Amino acid sequence: MTATHVLVLNSGSSSLKYQLLDMSADAARKATGIVERIGEPAGPADHTEALRRVADELAAHGAGLDSPDLAAIAHRVVHGGTRFTDPTLITDEVVAEIEHLIPLAPLHNPANLTGIEVARRLRPDLPQVAVFDTAFHSTMPQAAARYAIDRTVADEYGIRRYGFHGTSHAYVSRRTARLLGKDPSEVNVIVLHLGNGASASAVRGGVCVDTSMGLTPLEGLVMGTRSGDLDPAVIFHLTRVAGLSPDQVDTLLNKRSGLLGLCGDNDMREIGRRMAEGDEAARLAFEVYVHRLRKYVGAYCAVLGRVDAVAFTAGVGENSAAVREAALDGLEPLGIEIDAVRNAVRGSAERLVSTDTSRVAVAVVPTDEEREIAQQAYSLVRP
Ligand code: ADP
Repeated sequence: MTATHVLVLNSGSSSLKYQLLDMSADAARKATGIVERIGEPAGPADHTEALRRVADELAAHGAGLDSPDLAAIAHRVVHGGTRFTDPTLITDEVVAEIEHLIPLAPLHNPANLTGIEVARRLRPDLPQVAVFDTAFHSTMPQAAARYAIDRTVADEYGIRRYGFHGTSHAYVSRRTARLLGKDPSEVNVIVLHLGNGASASAVRGGVCVDTSMGLTPLEGLVMGTRSGDLDPAVIFHLTRVAGLSPDQVDTLLNKRSGLLGLCGDNDMREIGRRMAEGDEAARLAFEVYVHRLRKYVGAYCAVLGRVDAVAFTAGVGENSAAVREAALDGLEPLGIEIDAVRNAVRGSAERLVSTDTSRVAVAVVPTDEEREIAQQAYSLVRP
């Protein structure tokens, strides 16, 4: 009997998300869950304990960690640097190289590594695969990936644009092509991944040519709690004039900016409610958010030349008709016409929300990063 299940682990600093998928049944989801509060009094003591809980929950579904059906464990890893551009079978050497990338992702890579270490300890015989959030963007041309700073400094410290949410951009751009009845190689797509973190990408014929996040996930769009683009001199100003330390600036821009910084809420639902009550701060936050979005859509139209589709995904992109409509408002001269009625219909299916005459299709495509990670991992280990 062939093993066809893939366990996807997304290990954060205090949580462990998992999904078990059956690749022989169109990646059907067999089990899914999250173990939270790792290291807190109410939660498991550490990641080893957390993975044991995952194993128990899986066993309750009749597919424990020791199941012969398990073909691989796939790990989401945030930063692959320039070294990892494809799903990679994990070895001691690969672990060491992911460790090496910690300075580029000091919050994420250590947590991802912990997940890898405990999973390898519990199932040393099983193939473990790392799938990197940066990988899909590794095809960006130098013109898009380089910052215009001193080349020697940039090369010495690995300072360049890497991009994140890659598995989502890969999955959604491909699904969008299929929704149009085309092969991914035939279409140019702008993907707008709007979750708590948010990023845009320009995908030409299935290949990423630009994306909005940079060295870290801080660059680009306005996000739930991140500022996105700003004049780098704001940072000098905050340190020299406001007296903040580098760590304080880091926290301010990553955790207390974006929608939260602008209006005190980072959830688009709450912002919508407040706007309906005439709240000015909430309206301003919404407007700053969609203005940035529209700017990136325009920029990526220019980068791609011909655009076949704009695809919205993740929590805000899939659910907020108001954000979709406002972001594309006035872009008819670029061939982008959203249909107000179609756009307002709620749903969880992949769908088109553009008018029949729109030159550019506008799509809502729910993302599924776990499925993409499982598929990439399985294609590496399948017999
Ligand atoms: P994460 O980046 O944490 O994976 P998600 O993709 O789940 O985030 O998106 C979470 C965000 O989606 C929430 O913070 C909220 O702003 C937004 N969201 C979820 N549901 C809705 C909705 N019905 N309308 C508007 N925004 C929504």
